[in-house]
Amino acid sequence: MRPDRSRLVVLAGPTAVGKGTVAACVRRDHPEIWISVSVTTRPARPGEVDGVHYHFIDEAQFDELEATGGLLESALVHGRARYGTPRAAVEEQLAAGRSALLEIDLQGARQVRKAMPDSLMCFLAPPSWEELTRRLVGRGTESAAERERRLETARVELAAESEFDVTIVNTDVGTACAELVQLFVDGHDSARPGIEPSR
Ligand code: 5GP
Repeated sequence: MRPDRSRLVVLAGPTAVGKGTVAACVRRDHPEIWISVSVTTRPARPGEVDGVHYHFIDEAQFDELEATGGLLESALVHGRARYGTPRAAVEEQLAAGRSALLEIDLQGARQVRKAMPDSLMCFLAPPSWEELTRRLVGRGTESAAERERRLETARVELAAESEFDVTIVNTDVGTACAELVQLFVDGHDSARPGIEPSR
């Protein structure tokens, strides 16, 4: 797959819908697509590598980046930690003609849409609410209170689907990954009625 021009695709969607897994599939199988590495103030989880999964920084460093315009977008996610997309890296990749993928939350997606109106906004949706709940609980990495907080966020986030150019339903990671990669080829042509698989 080689898109004929560089594109910025923003992948957003509710908590636990599988954005990270779909992005990991793109990272593994499509090195021609550059994936932004976000900064975050949350601590690294086991297995996460600084500079690969995130740049793990402290509050002061985050403040500094924000104050100096170093972030394309930023958000406080789940009321807990701050996340942001380093601006320079995205601009460099696009200027070099590479396609770029941002895997970010909804608040961040809205900021990118404003800052870069040519970007293609893709909503990753669960096959159903029941399945989303199952995935949230099944992951088992959060406390009950944290899960409830994330479910509430997910309810709000699901309602935002209509703000996006295109929806991909994450029934199967491989299929969702292939559909996402195709967006880099089709661009806004893919934002036509009928591409959305039925749920
Ligand atoms: P996690 O901490 O589980 O890796 O990610 C939590 C949430 O933060 C996910 O919804 C993820 O998409 C979002 N996120 C990751 N990086 C960024 C970023 O740079 N900006 C924004 N706005 N959200 C992000």
